[in-house]
Amino acid sequence: MVRPRNFSAGPAQMPEDVLLSAQAEFMDFAGTGMSVLETSHRSAAYRRVIDAAEASLREVMGIPDSYGVLFLQGGATLEFAGIPMNLMRRGRAGHIVSGHFAKVAAEEAARYGSAEILATSEPTGFDRIPDLPAPEAFAGMDYGYICQNNTIYGTMFHGLPDCGGTPLVADVSSCFLSFPLDVTDYGLLFAGAQKNAGPSGVCVLVVDRSLVEAGPALGVCPTYLDYSAQLAKGSMLNTPNTFGIYLCGKVFDWVRGTGGLEAMGERNAEKAALLYGAVDRSDLYRGCAVPSSRSVANVTFRLPTPELEREFVDRAAGQGLVGLAGHRLVGGIRASIYNAVGIDAVRDLVAFMESFELSVT
Ligand code: PMP
Repeated sequence: MVRPRNFSAGPAQMPEDVLLSAQAEFMDFAGTGMSVLETSHRSAAYRRVIDAAEASLREVMGIPDSYGVLFLQGGATLEFAGIPMNLMRRGRAGHIVSGHFAKVAAEEAARYGSAEILATSEPTGFDRIPDLPAPEAFAGMDYGYICQNNTIYGTMFHGLPDCGGTPLVADVSSCFLSFPLDVTDYGLLFAGAQKNAGPSGVCVLVVDRSLVEAGPALGVCPTYLDYSAQLAKGSMLNTPNTFGIYLCGKVFDWVRGTGGLEAMGERNAEKAALLYGAVDRSDLYRGCAVPSSRSVANVTFRLPTPELEREFVDRAAGQGLVGLAGHRLVGGIRASIYNAVGIDAVRDLVAFMESFELSVT
């Protein structure tokens, strides 16, 4: 069976090796005669799964012991509330608003304390990462907050803000495992898994233990969202998303086995350069993000009319290139070229873009 070239923003394409490996052991997991779906999260066999997933992620990302790793439910969205409830000890956070999910996170944080907008690119339609605030702007704050890659608009931070010693919290949902990063630059980072790490329903959260060991900042924090309690219980305060974490572990192993984050970063840069090159060469396509803010993971562009954009999406789908419609908030075209999308798929898309342009001009 020829699988489609899947450019969906998430849930997104999974590495085929991961799907095949899960399929092969679906009915008989680790010699138990049962599916992993039927296996108790308290069993030794499952303990090995979650421990191995965490160990694999620690190795891939170089996560030091001073940071805890959690596999939570509720997607990235639930952590928009979990973060202020755990970290807002002084009641103040400094937010950089560079897109929809950054804005939603700031609005959610404002329910629990003062979420101060230190910079925003909303006036220019989120077409860029705004100029970064000076380190002094973060003085007296519990944390600075960014959404490192803006999935909808196709923009990405190419350098982190200097928060002047204040911890940086980053939503890395759509650039998780896309390139090497230094975990110690962050107080906390988190990602909904459904782009680069596995299925939806798992949120991977990496946190400097010293920020959370005293327990949540706010007494109203639900027990489930208490990061210190979750760390103490190894993400098993209740029944975790066992199958999701199992798949994430396989994806982490796949990233390691394909050269780790260094190699992934190089492949992703090559894919992005191919696609942006096609946009920039063309008289038909117009990139949405200002070039210095372009994302390596979500490439957004427009055609002259919504009708042509619909035709582009439909004809692409007819050729097995799927998931190209832009987010419903903005329209246009979005090609998400996450880790599991190979360079061949990007070459096919570029060839389609060129032939489409010839056919309509
Ligand atoms: N942050 C970013 C950057 C996202 O792209 C998304 C969803 N696509 C979210 C947060 C929300 O994630 P979830 O659906 O897992 O709650």
